[in-house]
Amino acid sequence: MPIDPTQPYDDNNVFARILRGELPSKTVYEDEHALAFHDINPLAPVHILVIPKGRYVSWDDFSEKASDAEIAGFTRAVGKVAREAGLVEIGYRVMANTGLRGGQEVPHLHMHIFGGTTLGPMLA
Ligand code: ADP
Repeated sequence: MPIDPTQPYDDNNVFARILRGELPSKTVYEDEHALAFHDINPLAPVHILVIPKGRYVSWDDFSEKASDAEIAGFTRAVGKVAREAGLVEIGYRVMANTGLRGGQEVPHLHMHIFGGTTLGPMLA
């Protein structure tokens, strides 16, 4: 079910539990600001999620409240993950579903990285 982007952060959401090591993930990258892992239900040959380590519900929450260091660190991590996945030459897509009608299901900001194929104009 899509989330209400104005809700307070829920420490029991699935990505918070992955960050705490309570649930497994296929991790591809980790640093001070970000964790990246394969999506459990890939919609493209490469489908990686990158999440900030801070407690941010959505892209809206993060872009308003995160520190400059968190925003820089997270943004650089997204780029690095895409480069390390070999996606730069053929191109890729970065997407953050946000809020009720943006299709966001998990209430912890996550950037989807899609690649490994020719992407259509929109992924539903
Ligand atoms: P949607 O599910 O509509 O794409 P989101 O943008 O909130 O909504 O994306 C949540 C993503 O998290 C989905 O692509 C889903 O497959 C993925 N996901 C959910 N649980 C896990 C998990 N435990 N490990 C990896 N990916 C997960």
